[in-house]
Amino acid sequence: MNEFCPEKIYELRTKNNMSQKALAKSLGITDRAISKWENGLSKPSGQHLIYLSRIFNVPIEYFLTEEKAGEEASPRGMESLRELYKIGRGPSSSHTIGPERACKIFKEKNPNADRFGAILYGSLAKTGKGHGTDIVIQKTFAPVACDVTCNVIESNLSHPNTLDLIAYCDNREIDRARVLSVGGGSIECEQFQSEKPKQVYDLHFFNDIVSYCKERSIRIWEYALENEDEGIWDYMQTIWNAMKASIRNGLEDEGILPGGLEVQKKAKALLESQHIDESAETRENRMVCAYAFAVGEQNAAGETIVTAPTCGAAGVVPAVLYYQQQKNKLSDDTIIQALLTAGVIGNIIKTNASISGAQCGCQAEVGSACAMAAAALAELFELSIGKIEYAAEMAIEHHLGLTCDPICGLVQIPCIERNAVAAMRAINAVNLASFLWNSRKISFDWVVNTMKETGKDMHTAYKETAEGGLAKIKID
Ligand code: SF4
Repeated sequence: MNEFCPEKIYELRTKNNMSQKALAKSLGITDRAISKWENGLSKPSGQHLIYLSRIFNVPIEYFLTEEKAGEEASPRGMESLRELYKIGRGPSSSHTIGPERACKIFKEKNPNADRFGAILYGSLAKTGKGHGTDIVIQKTFAPVACDVTCNVIESNLSHPNTLDLIAYCDNREIDRARVLSVGGGSIECEQFQSEKPKQVYDLHFFNDIVSYCKERSIRIWEYALENEDEGIWDYMQTIWNAMKASIRNGLEDEGILPGGLEVQKKAKALLESQHIDESAETRENRMVCAYAFAVGEQNAAGETIVTAPTCGAAGVVPAVLYYQQQKNKLSDDTIIQALLTAGVIGNIIKTNASISGAQCGCQAEVGSACAMAAAALAELFELSIGKIEYAAEMAIEHHLGLTCDPICGLVQIPCIERNAVAAMRAINAVNLASFLWNSRKISFDWVVNTMKETGKDMHTAYKETAEGGLAKIKID
């Protein structure tokens, strides 16, 4: 079935050095309408498609794609798991790791600059200060000075997390780059094409990956190994070491989180508290939550964590896996297999929908992390691929519509608790999937597609702008 492909308008417009305003003018519509088309929030009418094909001198079919979620493979494929699991400093992959990466590339590109400038737009402008974006940018450009300003008025953005980087020499602008921080620390920028990650997986729908694995009688983690380079196992060991370190550091840490909300770190207290007559189930709950809190608090404090798939949701996967490793004395190799399976799930969501809170709300961050954790745990239990899919599908399904509403724009309330609750939900999903997988009606691909659609329909106040939901609460 032919469907409108929003990327095509953006692609042609930028290729022709045309602003949204200029294109809107030639079509006799508002530039906001163009922005909506490019973001997939609305579609051009048939008449507008005819005009667009004339303006850009391409056939109408150029704006259509035959792809449909869950049915056909796309030539885009998926990037390496190295692009999903990244070690970096919190509190937000889109606000800290992505901009830091962009600034490093831009700085290297402009060794003669004697001053830099950065303009934050969209969600970055609204929550960048709370998330420490300005500090990260200035630290990365140091010792060269950088002025960071926020533009909350500009709305014609192709991604809600957008920033401009500008290099100056002798008060003259010598270079400028528009960067999109698309989630999980990944960036997109036309000027940085050589840095663009390669697509190392041909398949990007779960249905196709299942068929491939079943034909060859392999598990999902083995499918990941087939596609990644030889160094991936060592890379994943480094990732697991960093996850464990973030839990251990978090469990030793005490005090108040930075930012002014006066949030007390609670991981250590959770670890050391005990209910009178504590049952095994209650203990499991407390330990898993303590581990998730540990990572969440390290992240909120700007310490080192692993994006899984983002900083804000970094506690879910490690909490579930660390508890199992401790309880069942599992080897790191067994955990790495589970992390690879979780990575494929996260990669599918990242490719077909989003892992960005600014784009699709918290369902894309904590919901995705919960699906990854459920898949990882199902892999540890050596469940069938059908059960892994059901567990991951259930985990994300029950986060659909979850908004991103961090109080004061800080990744603390509700984010830290939310990681703990999602870790428990992942365990529940695996337990249910083990019994009920035969009766399921919905595929993982469909839920991912639904998450994307729900994210598109979500009001921007609930997408990492700190303008709606819990974020409206004022805490002194
Ligand atoms: S509410 Fe969710 S998406 Fe938003 S900052 Fe917190 S963890 Fe990230």
